[in-house]
Formats: sequence, structure tokens, C-alpha cells
Amino acid sequence: MYLIWFEGVENDERITVSAIILNGKELAAELQADLAVEVAEFIENNGVFPCLAAVLVGENPASQIYVRNKRQACEHAGIESQLHHLEAEVTTETLLHLVHQLNKAPEVHGILVQLPLPRQIDETRVLHAVNPLKDVDAFHPENVGRLVQGRPRFLPCTPHGIQQLLLRRGVPVGGKHVVIVGRSEIVGKPLANMLLQRGPGADATVTICHSRTERLAELTRQADILVVAVGRPRLVTADMVKPGAVVVDVGMNRVPEGLVGDVDFEGVCQVAGMITPVPGGVGPLTITMLLHNTLAAARMQQA
Ligand code: NDP
Repeated sequence: MYLIWFEGVENDERITVSAIILNGKELAAELQADLAVEVAEFIENNGVFPCLAAVLVGENPASQIYVRNKRQACEHAGIESQLHHLEAEVTTETLLHLVHQLNKAPEVHGILVQLPLPRQIDETRVLHAVNPLKDVDAFHPENVGRLVQGRPRFLPCTPHGIQQLLLRRGVPVGGKHVVIVGRSEIVGKPLANMLLQRGPGADATVTICHSRTERLAELTRQADILVVAVGRPRLVTADMVKPGAVVVDVGMNRVPEGLVGDVDFEGVCQVAGMITPVPGGVGPLTITMLLHNTLAAARMQQA
């Protein structure tokens, strides 16, 4: 176990620590290798290939990369994937028609609608149209409600990846103060709900911060585990982090130097006990959990 806790250390007694890197890429490779074995067993036992249908609208370069990476990961794990690429000008009705077709297709087990959608599309209507049994992103209100009630069907991919990283790298979560910066439906809110549940990798005391939060740094400095999902390059600096804290950087920001997170990595890694890098932290785990959900969906639909 690597973790160093600095209980009771005052902020002005900062100790310089070079943080342990929480390597998400490495863990994702381990989990995807295990998953490939499970997929092969499923195919052998059922004579059915788990299949993910990805819906991509328009030519957003980042979305194209994400979908390509997701399909490549499927292929490596033995999961089939379909790509439904629609032009940017498509209407909500046309997109809904496609979703209804995929809902009915017995060979499709998971449906992924890559976000963001173009402005003319009613995103809520589209996401709510996905069959909840095929909703591998866990965005449908039925799946969100089940998560809040502590009886999830699917766990949302990015929060699940973060929880697995903490669990499998021996970071204690129970009883700890987790501060999440960002209250999105994709990361902040579902992660808070998951960490509030009872059980391993949860039982945390959770604070959520957002753009209207006053005295942000005072709150982030109280975190044993600080999760940042904002979308602002290097928003969190070393002075906002408690010495020894575990820092999870979800942000992915394209800047002239390349891809950076929401955390000022160079400064914060001198203070934190553990930290995720960008790239190679949370991103690969998000994809892994999508594969996990696709296999889970195939199992449910086969039962
Ligand atoms: P959203 O834009 O949906 O949400 C951002 C959140 O940050 C909002 O709650 C917003 O507050 C809050 N916020 C904005 N500015 C500040 C500020 N100055 N101080 C405190 N809070 C602030 O983003 P997402 O959750 O979708 O994504 C966040 C980041 O994570 C992005 O960089 C995205 O690319 C990345 N991401 C990475 C994934 C991965 O797999 N690694 C997966 C998903 C996202 P308010 O609600 O008040 O507006």
C-alpha cells in the first residue's frame, strides 16, 4: 500500500511529496485482458457476440477520435461494434428513428450516442429514447434513478472507472472526505451518488463544487480525495490541495502544448500523495467500463 495520509497537518505546514502516479492506462490494460476472457466465455456459452452500436453525428474531430478509440477497444476485447455515422444537419426525428431501430435490433446489445450532438438536436429526447437495457452510458432516467437508489443496472463509465482505480490501487474511500469539482450529469453527479452508497469503494463523505461555489480552494483543501471534472486547463493548483491527498484529474483540454487536465500536474504532484496523469489516467478506464457495460447488457438480454 502506497498511500501516505497527513492527518492533522495544517495547510501552512506543507510537506513536499512527489506523488505516486495512478496509471489508468496500465489498469485499463489489465481489466481489458480480463474482460476479453469473459467475452470469449460468453460467446462460447451463448453463441452470441456482444455488440455495441455507436452513433456519431457530424464531423467533430474529438468525437471521431473517441468513437474510433471505443471501437478499437471493442475489437481487442472480442466485442463487435457498429458505426452509424450521420451527417451534421440530421434532424432529431431521423436520429430518433435510428435509435428505435437499434433498440429493436436483437444483435445490438449496447447503444452509445456520442456527445455532444449538434445544436438542432434535442439531446434529452434522444438519450431518453435509448432502451434502458441497452443504455451502456447509463444516461437514461430509469438508470439514473436506479443508481441514486443504490440498485444500479449499469454504472456510468467515467465514475465507474474512477471508483475502480481507487479500489484496485488500494485507496481507502470509506469515511474519507471526497470533494468533487464539477456537477455534470456525466461525471460529477453520478460519481457523488456512487461514492455515497454503502459498500467497498464507497461510504464516502462527499462535497460537490461547481462554478457558483464560494471559496473553492478552502473546500478543495479539505479533500482526502479530490476529483476535478471541470474542463478548464490547470484550474486546480498546488495551493488548493491538502498534502498527501489523492487527486483524480478527469479533465481533457486541448491546448497548444497538447492534451492537459484540469489540474496543474507539475505543481500538484509535489503536494499530492497520489495523482492521475492526463493523458493515461481516467480516459482509458472510461472506455474499459463501456466494454464492461456492453458485456453486462449482452448477458442481461441473453438471460
Ligand atoms: P461539463 O461542462 O458538463 O461540466 C463542468 C462542470 O464544471 C460544471 O458543473 C461547472 O459548473 C463546473 N465549473 C466550470 N467552471 C468552474 C470553475 N471555475 N470552478 C468550479 N467549477 C467550475 O463538463 P463534463 O463533466 O462533461 O467534463 C469535464 C471535463 O472532463 C472536460 O474536460 C471533459 O473533456 C472531461 N471528461 C473526461 C472524461 C474521461 O473519460 N477522461 C469523460 C468525461 C469528461 P456549473 O454547473 O455551475 O456550470
